[in-house]
Amino acid sequence: MSAIDSGLAGKVALVTGGSRGIGRAVVERLAGDGMDVVFFYRGNAEAAQGVVDAVAAAGGRAEALQADVTDAAAVAQAVERVVESRGRIDLLVNNAGIVRDNLLAMLEDADIRAVLDTNVLGVFHVTRAVVPHMISKRAGKIVNLGSVAGDKGGRGQSNYAASKGAIQAFTRAMAVELASRKITVNCVAPGVIDTEMSQAVRDLAGEQVTQRILLKRVGSADDVAHAVWFLASRFADYITGEVLHVDGGFKME
Ligand code: NDP
Repeated sequence: MSAIDSGLAGKVALVTGGSRGIGRAVVERLAGDGMDVVFFYRGNAEAAQGVVDAVAAAGGRAEALQADVTDAAAVAQAVERVVESRGRIDLLVNNAGIVRDNLLAMLEDADIRAVLDTNVLGVFHVTRAVVPHMISKRAGKIVNLGSVAGDKGGRGQSNYAASKGAIQAFTRAMAVELASRKITVNCVAPGVIDTEMSQAVRDLAGEQVTQRILLKRVGSADDVAHAVWFLASRFADYITGEVLHVDGGFKME
């Protein structure tokens, strides 16, 4: 329990892509605040177990479930498992995402499809499976991971930018659709964050990238997790349909 009561202790969270990077930081942040956290991962069982162990060592509760968000049937089954064991899902964090950067002419169909399948259809699959359980409780919070790429053009990122622009639009549409059920839907849009996903870009043009960020540093996974925690907490009860940028001012440069 933190010194300030966020209202999260004892509640149930489902986080997609919790085995690494930003998702891992979100799982640890929420579990550290007393939430019972279940997270999905795609294939890295070792990393997933590492998160479960770290949370347990810190005195929290987290469970890892293998569920590929691109597989609607597997997602529906996994969500049912969570609801059967916990009785409810209070918070959904749609975090799982991938990049397959390339200039448009060089983008294979497979690269376009993989990004849209994971980053957009994956969010539809999980949200569609979870929302009925929130509606039945007339309560819930959904936080989607967008990206600065949804606002600011980036060379070689047309597939990824399209997917994250879609998530910002999806967030606003869901906020309208679910408000009467007392469910809020918001988006956190990170800039360049120090995870495996951004490693290639940082290796290629680290200094150039840093210089284009107003605060002159890349963000940490914890920087993003704090914003997700805020939107999940009772302090954000009156916020819905918003995009919270966590990018050190990157989009303004
Ligand atoms: P990472 O590549 O570090 O981690 C991705 C996570 O998503 C892993 O847990 C991975 O599981 C999981 N995952 C990927 N595909 C699937 C799938 N099909 N089904 C289930 N889980 C899946 O990414 P980040 O932590 O950097 O990114 C997290 C989110 O933040 C993404 O939505 C990303 O687009 C967004 N973001 C990241 C930025 C950055 O600079 N890092 C910037 C802006 C936005 P597994 O371990 O099993 O592979």
